[in-house]
Amino acid sequence: TLRDVFEQTVAKFPHKEGLADRRLGKSWTYREWDQEVNKLANAFRQAGVQKGDRVSTVLFNTAEFATILFACIKIGAVFNPINFRLMGKEVEFILRDAAPKIVLYEKATSVPVAYAAKSIQDIQFWCIDEPDSFAKSYYEKISKISSERPDCELDENDSYAIMYTSGTTGMPKGVMHSHRNMVDQSLIMAAVMRVTKNERGLCVAPMFHCAELHCAFLPRLMMGGSNIIMHQFDAKELVLAIKENKITHFFAAPTMWNMMLREDLSKADFSSLRAGLYGGAPMAPALVKELNSTLGIDVFQAYGMTEMGPAISVLYDDEQLSKSGAAGKALVNHEIRVVKVKDGAPSDPEEICAPGELGEIIVCGPSTMIGYFNNPDATKEALYKGWYHSGDIGYMDNEGFLWVSDRVKDMIISGGENIYSREVEDVLFEHPGVLDAAVVGEPDEIWGEKVVAFVVKKDPSLTAEELDNFCKENERIARYKRPRRYEFMKELPRNASGKLQKFLLREQAIRP
Ligand code: AMP
Ligand code: MG
Repeated sequence: TLRDVFEQTVAKFPHKEGLADRRLGKSWTYREWDQEVNKLANAFRQAGVQKGDRVSTVLFNTAEFATILFACIKIGAVFNPINFRLMGKEVEFILRDAAPKIVLYEKATSVPVAYAAKSIQDIQFWCIDEPDSFAKSYYEKISKISSERPDCELDENDSYAIMYTSGTTGMPKGVMHSHRNMVDQSLIMAAVMRVTKNERGLCVAPMFHCAELHCAFLPRLMMGGSNIIMHQFDAKELVLAIKENKITHFFAAPTMWNMMLREDLSKADFSSLRAGLYGGAPMAPALVKELNSTLGIDVFQAYGMTEMGPAISVLYDDEQLSKSGAAGKALVNHEIRVVKVKDGAPSDPEEICAPGELGEIIVCGPSTMIGYFNNPDATKEALYKGWYHSGDIGYMDNEGFLWVSDRVKDMIISGGENIYSREVEDVLFEHPGVLDAAVVGEPDEIWGEKVVAFVVKKDPSLTAEELDNFCKENERIARYKRPRRYEFMKELPRNASGKLQKFLLREQAIRP
């Protein structure tokens, strides 16, 4: 279990710095941190939390977040970290679904939490800094409590966490992972990243997301390294933190790496930094080269999804330039297939596509989720025949590298022809008058579906006719792929983590 792994590290490295929080200016040795964790676990018990009960957080990156995580683990409570960028209604939806005993938040997240608290009765709210009238103080709760280790029967297959996926395809679903799942995911990522006890990692990407938590934070902890916490991403702060905390390693989205390099680096010191991890999207070769040459660091890419904990494949440091844009190969003990997409039914794991042929990416491995919380139907569909069906479209090249190109739900079927929305969007993006664009399918009596484009103008004089001509020109795209209708918008709907919410556009296509 993750409790064993944590307690083993504490036993092996009691006097090593385990955790530090830049904002609080505080650090804890592994033994000190373990005492804090035990206190909080006992406080949770006292507040009525039992094994299997959920404990939610709406927190930016904080030392308390890391302590809450292990306090849950110690008593078999299920940890439910919620995205701090969500709005009140979204937080309320998740709290109603997860039904936790306690929600922990901070001043910076009090607005959405207060909104949810208004309509939810039987949940306790604890605040780590400035409690509102409906909440209790976290520090008061742990002030006069024993730091003795709480006892609890725990099995590796017990649920450890529920993480809600960002919901690009509709309402968020709670992904359940077991202790075993995440021990395996983190060990594999520790091996991939060559993590040792000398690692000093910066938690700069959001810790509520499993990429930061399981591919960066936990691997470092398991190997006896140190984790230094930054409240939230800020490029200037990041440059400073690397120097001050002698950071060796961190995970960040490609945009964050880019923004960091655009800072004034005259006083920067990157000499401690040896490696970086990115994910969520491929990184441009120019940026990889700059990280290699300017900073002298190796970069790795992970591809995956919350349901898989999340990493399933990795593009290694020495493959970054020769296979730029690819998602790499499957992690050890994982298997990835690209299979034929079926109309209205889950893809069959045995109908494997030829190299280069587009299909749905499916995967299995030791960190496959237990299932979606309270949602057996969605679970059955997602885990059809034992493979997690990612909904991503991609292909395998001749050398076995995976390429991700689109999502199943982004596929439009018109007159029996499959149209990958990305292909149409790429053409629209080529037009200099287009700032942002997305296409979806609109139900059509004759064609089944027809293509509708939502466009944000860069040039105010841009018209639908001009775009249609542009698509026709120079054999750009097949007639059946050309948008039949254009809608101009001020901006496209994106969720809290910046992902395009195509389902909203689909709804709008049906009811314009
Ligand atoms: P989430 O469940 O929120 O982690 O989102 C998972 C989705 O993000 C995947 O299904 C992909 O569509 C996309 N994704 C994640 N990592 C990558 C990557 N390295 N390259 C391309 N797409 C990615
Ligand atoms: Mg998802």
